[in-house]
This record gives sequence, C-alpha cells and structure tokens, in this order.
Amino acid sequence: KVLVGNLVGEGHRNYVLMYNMLTGIRVAVSRCQAKIKRPITDEDYLARHKYSFDMLGNELTPSARYDFKFKDYAPWVFRELRDEHFHLDPADYLLSLTAKYILSELGSPGKSGSFFYYSRDYRFIIKTISHSEHAFLRSILKDYHEHVRSNPHTLLSRFYGLHRVKIPRGRKIHFVIMNNLFPPHRDIHETYDLKGSAFGREYPEDKAANNPRAVLKDKNWVNRGRTLELGPEKRALLTEQLRRDMEFLKRVHVMDYSLLIGIHNMERGNRDNLRANTLAVFHPNTEPVRRKPSAVKSHGEAHNVRKAVVRADPKRLDTVAQLPQDGSDDRRHFLFYQDEGGLRATDEQNNPLDAIYYLGVIDICTPYNTSKRIEHAWKSMTENAVTISCVDPVTYGHRFIDFLMSVMRGGDPNIRPPGLETPA
Ligand code: ATP
Ligand code: CA
Ligand code: CA
Repeated sequence: KVLVGNLVGEGHRNYVLMYNMLTGIRVAVSRCQAKIKRPITDEDYLARHKYSFDMLGNELTPSARYDFKFKDYAPWVFRELRDEHFHLDPADYLLSLTAKYILSELGSPGKSGSFFYYSRDYRFIIKTISHSEHAFLRSILKDYHEHVRSNPHTLLSRFYGLHRVKIPRGRKIHFVIMNNLFPPHRDIHETYDLKGSAFGREYPEDKAANNPRAVLKDKNWVNRGRTLELGPEKRALLTEQLRRDMEFLKRVHVMDYSLLIGIHNMERGNRDNLRANTLAVFHPNTEPVRRKPSAVKSHGEAHNVRKAVVRADPKRLDTVAQLPQDGSDDRRHFLFYQDEGGLRATDEQNNPLDAIYYLGVIDICTPYNTSKRIEHAWKSMTENAVTISCVDPVTYGHRFIDFLMSVMRGGDPNIRPPGLETPA
C-alpha cells in the first residue's frame, strides 16, 4: 500500500468527520487546559466528558457547522501526558491540529480498516480505532501512564488524546491522536514494519522497486541484508528500552505490535522530495502547491517565524508558517529522537554514519483475546505455529525482542546500560 496523503478539504467525503473531530478537540482540549492543574485521581482514568454540538451553540459549546456529539476520554490524564511527559506545548498542539481545518488523509494502510490522518504540519497522526481497541486503551490507561512516567524514553506510541464523535443516526467513531514518528523535514527512503515473524511478512520486491513509500516487512529486511547500524552505547540503550516496552506490553497482554523504522539516508538527503504530497503548502482553496526548496527555512528560524505569525495574524498561517523545519521541539527531550528528531546511525567507535533512524513501537492496542486465539488455532493447523504472527503475548514479545536483537549489528542481549531513568 502506498503512503500518500490526500487533502481533506471542503467537499471531501470525510470533510464533515474531520470538521467534527477537530472542533471537538479544539473545544474539549482548550477547556481542560484552561483549568488549574491538579493531581490525577483514579476517577480521572475512567472519566468521559460529553459535548453536544449544534448550529446554535450554548453556554458549554460554541456553535458548530454540523450537529454532532463528542466525547473526550480521560482529559486530565491526557493533559498530564502531553504537558509533563511528552513535552508538548499546549498552544502548539491545538494550533497544529485546529488552526486551519485541514488534514491529510492517508486512507487505511493496514488490514484493520483504521483510517489515518496527518495534521497539516505532519507532527500528529489521528487514527480511527475500533470500539474494542478504544475500550482496551481505556482499560490500560493507568498502566500506560505509569509506564510512561517511569520510562521517559519509551518507544511506545505517544497517545495525546482519545475521543469519539457521533453524528445523528451515524456510527460512533473512536480515534486517538499520536505522534508521527517520521519528521516533516526529512525524506524517509525506506520504511519497515517489523514484528519478528516471518509468516506473510514480505512486501513484494518487484512492487517495492517502483514505490519508495512501500512499507517493507521482516522478510524484506532480512533479504536485503539490513542491520541497524548503532554503536555499543546506543545499541545497549535501545535494546534495554525495547525490552522494557515489550515487558509492559506482555504484562497487559498486547500483541501484534511492530517496530516501525524509517531510514533517512543522509547522502541522498531530501532531493527525491518523498514528502511532497503531504507537505504541500495549502492555499485557501486547498489546492496543494509544492514548496520550492529555496523557501525552506533553517532550523530555529522557521519555528520562530511560525510563533510570530501565529501571534500576528492567524489567517496568514497557511502561507508562511506550517512546516516546522527542525525535528520539533518536543523531540529534543527524548533519547531516541534527539538527532534531527531521530537516532543517528553510528559505528563501533560511536562515530556518526550517514543515516538517521526514525523508530518506535506502534499498533499497541490489540489485546490477545478470544478471536485472536481462534485465529491462531486455525492458522496453526496449516502453518508452523511459531512463525505465524498471531501467537500469545509472551511468545510474541520474546520473538519480537529476539528478532530485533538480531537486526542490530553485533547486538548483545546481556548489556544492561544505566541511564534510561534520567529525565531529560
Ligand atoms: P494492522 O492492524 O492491519 O496492522 P492498523 O490499521 O492497526 O493495521 P498500524 O499497524 O497502526 O495500522 O499502522 C499501519 C501503518 O501506518 C504502519 O505500518 C506505518 O507505515 C503507518 N504508521 C502507523 N503509526 C505510525 C506512526 N506513529 N508514525 C508514522 N507512521 C505510522
Ligand atoms: Ca500493525
Ligand atoms: Ca492494528
């Protein structure tokens, strides 16, 4: 499947859905954010705030273009996650998502039928999720919060919000907002989604040749002879963090997650402009216009311009200010996202090499439940039970780590480095 975004502007079949999502986020998040901070209680994990939008508006909700209902789940918990643990600036967050009602729709790249949307500046991903994934995420939210608190450098998806929209007589649509692992300012030349399983884990190489955005899998990684080029220190830190994240997922009985790896080749740089479709500069009529390379601002400059413009004239945002050119402020706080928003490849002497990895553990809301067990039983009748991707969470986790150890150059499972607890 091809990872190319389509703009969702007025007239797009999902425009109303997007409008409702963004309106709900804008109102609900700013409402919670405006309150005085207080410590989280157990009730906060279960909380859900309901909003009812209509054309007239009332004292609780401003008027909206459409009638719809919106639910904000555990707003105080997500606020704390964003502010304290994920180092997001609240104003930036809302601005990225809602300053202009435009998202870029990725469609549904996985088998699950979930839809993916990028925020205009490419920093955030909205993923629609099933009712059961939503219920599951709520049920592990406290553990997740605890894990993030004690693992400031976790590689797990960073969840910034969990919401639901419903239009009259329509379906309930649940969605999460999370970090886009890939940066707005760097081409990704190869993408891998690795699970540690061989079964069905290959993207056809002949198709990959014509598609630089193909999401390659375990077998492609092995057949192409790839390794994660990391010196001993980074390797040990990464292994340790992956192990802790895997232990967490095992504890909450999650499986089917993957390590997503995007590789930026510094020799190739950005000349292929693989981000062109999602990083178009949008004019009010939503026609994408390619930004000329000369218009690209340097590191801090664009960011400052952006902030200044926001203050000066929100309407001008779309022409000047929407592409952060650095790895985003928040990434500086995270060990594995520090080098240009990612992790720079290094040799055995820790000298930098010409690649940057953008990686993280994604798709972490699938518990091992009855239906998975049935799938497993069926598949094991025809396939080798260990290589199929649907196994129990313990087997899954260990196979995942074993595979990742083998993809790292000289990976040594016995090195247990200190230092991961150190808050940034
Ligand atoms: P399935 O359950 O069939 O695997 P899914 O709908 O749950 O699919 P994911 O596995 O979460 O989807 O993601 C599908 C693809 O979307 C990934 O392989 C990756 O290319 C892209 N993607 C998902 N999450 C992120 C992220 N946080 N950052 C960048 N890309 C992502
Ligand atoms: Ca997946
Ligand atoms: Ca999934």
